[in-house]
Amino acid sequence: MKKIRISLLGIVAFLAFMVFSCSEEPNVDPVQEPQVDEQTLSQFSKLGFDVSDIRFETFNNVVTGESEQVYVLENDIKISPKLLEEMLHNEGNGPKTEQYRTTNQVSSPKTIKVLGYYASGTNSSYLDATMRSALQMAVDNYNNLNLGLTFTLAFGTNSSNYDIVVTRVSGSGGGRAGFPSGGNPYKWVEIQSGTSNYGLNVVEHVMTHEIGHCVGLRHTDYFNRSISCGSGGNEGSAGVGAIHIPGTPSTTNVDMNSIMLACFNGSENGEFSNYDATALTTLYPGSTNPPGDPTLSVSPTSVSFGYTSGSRTITVSANVSWTVTDNASWISVSPSSGSNSGSFTISVAPYNMVCEPSRRGTVTVNGGAAGTKTISVSQSSRPLKPGEQCP
Ligand SMILES: [Zn+2]
Repeated sequence: MKKIRISLLGIVAFLAFMVFSCSEEPNVDPVQEPQVDEQTLSQFSKLGFDVSDIRFETFNNVVTGESEQVYVLENDIKISPKLLEEMLHNEGNGPKTEQYRTTNQVSSPKTIKVLGYYASGTNSSYLDATMRSALQMAVDNYNNLNLGLTFTLAFGTNSSNYDIVVTRVSGSGGGRAGFPSGGNPYKWVEIQSGTSNYGLNVVEHVMTHEIGHCVGLRHTDYFNRSISCGSGGNEGSAGVGAIHIPGTPSTTNVDMNSIMLACFNGSENGEFSNYDATALTTLYPGSTNPPGDPTLSVSPTSVSFGYTSGSRTITVSANVSWTVTDNASWISVSPSSGSNSGSFTISVAPYNMVCEPSRRGTVTVNGGAAGTKTISVSQSSRPLKPGEQCP
């Protein structure tokens, strides 16, 4: 996916139409022969990865100063030989693509502490101002879903107590990350320096995308990256490491708004699609408040009327659905049902009898498991007019 070369030629006006992969290695020809042996290729194929441009590279960790050999798949996913082993042993239960997942997931619930690598002073690995804002937006994207995973964000350079560390690396645009291991997210996210040239929303998109990998999401179009990249990306096998997430589209109906598509363009808005949200809430459901005990109360519990017609409002406090009935032809109620808290009206017809005791009736509110409440209704008869006598 090398359309980014257009930008390198300076045709800035075309930015909005260009497509980038999550990671750009402008000097690497995507069709070069991968220097990965056949057995490893077949193992990654078995896990459902597109191995057409797999690379074996040295990952120089700018934070720890350590180096590690990693496979780079689908342009932005770093997988160590050790994690490959883990994924192969974890079949059926590893990174999830979104809307597929891997076999590796983060244990949940968990608080994930994110560090934006930054301090005052100049260092090419420090996040720039756009990246720092975008990282906050990406963290907010996840927290807004109320997942079992809760993200915190701090900026600094001491990475030891953090779960995800986001650094800046040189490059034309895009990022790289990896998949979870041992129930923990992948720790080292690299954002290429050129990404910021495409604006805050695009950086937010890339950050959110890479954190998606860190918690186990695969590329939504892992099976055919030409869907988002426009070209390249062999049709992969339906790998055992690519597990479809229920409630999200499958390979026959790809969500073109997904933040986890393999390639992005210069007009990304940085937000999750609805199916992205479904995928994440399915993988990492947040705690739902158990509904409280069913309750129902009414006020007032008795109403009395004079002999003329009249009506009175009854207030209902409830967390259940309820129905209202009465036991007398001269009483009517409206509405005759409701749910949760609300009100209804009791109305009475005129009572034109004289010298009669008050008539009485009952209105019953039935709240199912919350039980019933009654309101007693009384209405007095018409008083004698002057000169009138009881019959
Ligand atoms: Zn990616």
